[in-house]
Amino acid sequence: MPYKTFQAIVLQRVDWRENDRILTLFSPEHGRVDVLCRSCRKPKSPLMSAAELFTMGEYVVFSGKGRDYVQSCSIIESFYPLRLDYARLAAAAMMASACLKTIQPEEPMGHLYILLARSFRRLAFEDSDITAVTSAFLLHFITLQGFKPRLNHCVRCQKRMGDAEGGYLMEQEDGICCAACAPQANRRSWLSAEQTAWLRDVLVLGIDKISRELGAYPLGHLKRYTEYQLETNLPDLPKQ
Ligand SMILES: [Zn+2]
Repeated sequence: MPYKTFQAIVLQRVDWRENDRILTLFSPEHGRVDVLCRSCRKPKSPLMSAAELFTMGEYVVFSGKGRDYVQSCSIIESFYPLRLDYARLAAAAMMASACLKTIQPEEPMGHLYILLARSFRRLAFEDSDITAVTSAFLLHFITLQGFKPRLNHCVRCQKRMGDAEGGYLMEQEDGICCAACAPQANRRSWLSAEQTAWLRDVLVLGIDKISRELGAYPLGHLKRYTEYQLETNLPDLPKQ
C-alpha cells in the first residue's frame, strides 16, 4: 500500500516552489517523516492548516517517485493560542528544535511525542509559567535521551543531598555537585535548594502535581545541560 495514515506534529516547515511546503512531521510510531505538502499555500487549500507549524493531525501520506506527499489531514489540534504570544511561540520552537535533534526516520518515540504534545497543550491553553513548562520539558526530554541528571547525591563525594541544600549542576558529570566539592565552579551553574527540590519533584511527580512555585526556574541550567549532552545549540527564549 503506498498510503499510510498516522498521527503527527509539524516540527518544521520550509516553503517550496510557488505554493508548496516541505514539512518535517514527528510521528510517535514513525519518528521523523519529511513530506511534501502540495498547493498548501494557495488560498482556500484544504491543506493550509495541516502545513502550519506545531499543528497536530492525522496525516494521510502517499509515497511515490521517491517522495512522500500529504494526501489529506484531519486536524486534531492546531494549538492556535501559541501563535498569539511571542514568548509561548519561542518556547514551543525551543521544544521543537530539541525534538528535531533526536528524532530519526522509522524510529518510534512515543514517550517523547506525548511529552511534546502535553507541553504544547500547557503552553497554549494553561496559564502556567512559560519557563517552568519549558524547564520541565527539558528535564524530561534529557531523561528520555538517557541523560537523567543525578539529583540526590553529589556526583563527586556521593554524599546524599538534602532538601535544604543547593548544588552545582555539572553537565560533564551528569548531575549535581555539593558546594564543598566544587569551590571553583561557575556561579551560573548553582542551583538553589528550592530549584533542586523542584527538579526532583518534576521527575517524580510531574509538573501538574507540584504546588511549589519558584521565583526563578532553572531554565538556563537545563538548556546548557541539554546542549552539552546533545552537542548542539538550542534557540533562546526572549528575555522576560
Ligand atoms: Zn560533594
